[in-house]
Amino acid sequence: MATETESEWDVKVPDKPLKDKVYFENLKSVVIDTEMCSRCLTCAAVCPGGITVVNNKVDFPDYETKCFDCGACVRVCPRFAYEPKSGLGDHIEFTAGRSKRFSGQDGAMVTELLVSAMEMGMTDRALFAGRDEKWATEMFHARDPEQLAITTLGGTKYTFADVLPALKEAVKFTKSGVGIVGTPCIVSGVRKLQQEYPIFREKVKLVVGLFCTENFHYDDISSYLKAKGVDFSKLVKTDIIKGKFVSTMTDGKVKFKVAEAEAIVASGCNVCTDFTALESDASCGSVGSANGFSTVVVRTEAAKKVMAFIREKGYADFDEGDPAQLGFLIGHKQKRAENIKK
Ligand SMILES: Cc1cc2nc3c(=O)[nH]c(=O)nc-3n(C[C@H](O)[C@H](O)[C@H](O)COP(=O)(O)OP(=O)(O)OC[C@H]3O[C@@H](n4cnc5c(N)ncnc54)[C@H](O)[C@@H]3O)c2cc1C
Repeated sequence: MATETESEWDVKVPDKPLKDKVYFENLKSVVIDTEMCSRCLTCAAVCPGGITVVNNKVDFPDYETKCFDCGACVRVCPRFAYEPKSGLGDHIEFTAGRSKRFSGQDGAMVTELLVSAMEMGMTDRALFAGRDEKWATEMFHARDPEQLAITTLGGTKYTFADVLPALKEAVKFTKSGVGIVGTPCIVSGVRKLQQEYPIFREKVKLVVGLFCTENFHYDDISSYLKAKGVDFSKLVKTDIIKGKFVSTMTDGKVKFKVAEAEAIVASGCNVCTDFTALESDASCGSVGSANGFSTVVVRTEAAKKVMAFIREKGYADFDEGDPAQLGFLIGHKQKRAENIKK
């Protein structure tokens, strides 16, 4: 029962470091201006005012007059009271899989998990990060496995996708639930949304995380690739393999050491220590399995059920995964974050 001073709508909002400023300015001072922002857009997904992206930075034009000072942004931002996570994390199974039905970046197990969850009735839609002809990401709400015939939905785009604003829309319309995939920062954003808002707890049923070393802003990576001779009209795949960024075009490949592009890595990636998407239901990556397979780390009962369904239907081939192969990249992210702190 609510008391006189405490309404039923009261929520716990973090303290303001800048006490006389609106919440967005606090977010700006703690996360954005310090270059810690991962651009996951969890804040934009819940802001009733106007948080958006301006010149590759999360921003709120005219926040002085337009911010409602509700505190939603700081409640959900995974970096406001940042607790870095690292390692392989708790898991039920570590394996390698290759879908027999779909093609993707590696073994298409991300696509297989999300589509199988739909077929089982666990979800009625899955959010994919597709792309346009210039390789800018475009969110797609898949509601039927046949929609996965759109070949641009699978595969890795080394640039940010607006997954969480799309999730805000998806939870409004879903009946049985939503499946989602994203980089570790996006997965952390989903968990924050679930912690703070019942609708996300009820409706988000499967969260697939991607192993991730770093990501890039679209303008930066597209100009960089063009300067290296990549023709976007012929580009069919981008990959980072053994330290090399490889752009595969219909008539050849452009390769360079990914370390050369260090200056354009999004700043928020430099503080991130989560390589394996520790908070996901299942995470997938290239490292840890043979070519053509996706490494799959099954962490929760929800993901275990989907994997059992995939096996029962014979939808994928399985192979052994090797967790030791992840050690180098887990350590690399930890060291990079420590160097930034110094
Ligand atoms: C930015 C980035 C960095 C990565 N770094 C590594 C790494 O260092 N080491 C490693 O082993 N693996 C890394 N991965 C994961 C790897 O590239 C594959 O995505 C993974 O192995 C799954 O392959 P798959 O064939 O199972 O996926 P698919 O079945 O092809 O499905 C992948 C899905 O990922 C989603 N997706 C693609 N790009 C993005 C994006 N930018 N943001 C959100 N969602 C996206 C799409 O919805 C797509 O359908 C990275 C992925 C990304 C997006």
